[in-house]
Amino acid sequence: MLFKTVTKDNFQRLVEIILEANEVVGPKRVGVGKNGKPLHQYLPVQSFDELELDYDTTQYSAKTYFLPFRENLSTYRFDEADWVQEIRYRVQPRALIGLHACDIDALLKLDKVLARDGFPSPYYISRRKNTFIVGIDHMPCEDCFCQSLGSDTVSHGFDLFLTDLGDRYFVAIDSDFGFITLQRVPTADVTEQDRLEYRAVRKRIAGAFKTKVSADSLPNLLDIEFDSPVWKKWGDKCFSCGSCAMVCPTCYCYGVAERVSMDFKQGAKIRQLYSCNLSDFAMVAGGHNFRPTRHSRLKYRYYHQHRGFVETYDEPKCVGCNRCGRACLAGINPPEVIADLQQAEVSP
Ligand code: SF4
Ligand code: SF4
Repeated sequence: MLFKTVTKDNFQRLVEIILEANEVVGPKRVGVGKNGKPLHQYLPVQSFDELELDYDTTQYSAKTYFLPFRENLSTYRFDEADWVQEIRYRVQPRALIGLHACDIDALLKLDKVLARDGFPSPYYISRRKNTFIVGIDHMPCEDCFCQSLGSDTVSHGFDLFLTDLGDRYFVAIDSDFGFITLQRVPTADVTEQDRLEYRAVRKRIAGAFKTKVSADSLPNLLDIEFDSPVWKKWGDKCFSCGSCAMVCPTCYCYGVAERVSMDFKQGAKIRQLYSCNLSDFAMVAGGHNFRPTRHSRLKYRYYHQHRGFVETYDEPKCVGCNRCGRACLAGINPPEVIADLQQAEVSP
């Protein structure tokens, strides 16, 4: 890893240079929340001034720029006795500016499933390869628990990563392209003073987390508490709306549907994200539903996040952003559900 510093003015200039030839997406203010705080989403911007890099969080994650809610996998048309299929991958370059560490960590988890495992997705890979990622450190939000899951810092998965040192950014460079791109503006070598200030900022961030989840023995706890009444208690509140999976940066389950024209001459194969909390998620041919109850589906989502993914990849799927907790109209959120389970374990 290489490190440099860049003044904020020069970083702005860098973004303006990137904007000249690329789509730039970053945290943009979209309104004000119930608590009076600004709401942000990762959206395309036309100028640097539209970016608010000192944002708390976004309602939706950046997943949508790699795994859109709905996308055409292929279109096809029948031509006499033959047929023609067209498959398009997104190859236009895009820069994502201002991702937090947990959202970059979420991409690293998606990479494991969608870019490396037995069935890598060329749609995902083409987007990932053509996206320039600039991360940024931030003070933790009130209710995020990424530190408990080790996602409050990242050491790879980005091109550049910024830490705010007041009048300048401390920049970690993790790719050749990041290095070359940064050379478009003046930078400085890191001094002893920069290093000290960087470490002080990191220490301040690490000490500011308010929400903590005891996650060390979660897979084991989940095994033991498979039949806990805690699942019914929280599951009975669930509306099975699927919002939690839609906003989650690591939920990747999807369904594929065929849309055929009325004259049967053309059609499209469409992938659409799905949620394991939706009532028909585990329904199979013949109408049998393996998870017919709300609590069995809610439980399944927690088991995938904190048990099944750990078994496969040695790490939880959840990065602790708590977007699901904020989006849930029923007030279901991981810190409380997990605390409830832990409580059930100690007070039989
Ligand atoms: S947990 Fe909340 S957001 Fe998720 S499906 Fe249930 S009600 Fe919807
Ligand atoms: S499960 Fe919830 S807290 Fe965990 S990564 Fe998904 S949205 Fe964030």
